[in-house]
Amino acid sequence: MTVRIDYILCNGCRGRAEGCCEEICPGYLFYRENGKAVMREPSDCWDCFACVKACPRAALSVELPFQISEVKHRLIARIKNNRINWQLLDSNGLTLVKYSIQNRNEKSKNSNNE
Ligand code: SF4
Ligand code: SF4
Repeated sequence: MTVRIDYILCNGCRGRAEGCCEEICPGYLFYRENGKAVMREPSDCWDCFACVKACPRAALSVELPFQISEVKHRLIARIKNNRINWQLLDSNGLTLVKYSIQNRNEKSKNSNNE
């Protein structure tokens, strides 16, 4: 799969010492140049979706492979409150499916408090 950067939405996490994608990627695949995120080695991506969930601007998405989706369908995620809201987009950016689940971190926090 391929992580896509929307350069209109990405603001380079202005004001932060590190971009959220830079900070969270386990493979250190992001850096910033001219105020925008850049991916160093897309083939090293593990498809963990951590950057997609962390981007505060929803500028990152994962393009699904043809084996499981139509051409250029993408998944994006936004974390809001204690939920992760997933959206499957078609090649024109239109939403095909929405799916919302409770954030696992929040689930474990809740169960630790019980
Ligand atoms: S987290 Fe999103 S907005 Fe921030 S630098 Fe990365 S792609 Fe850009
Ligand atoms: S999906 Fe995971 S490994 Fe790939 S760029 Fe994003 S954080 Fe890094």
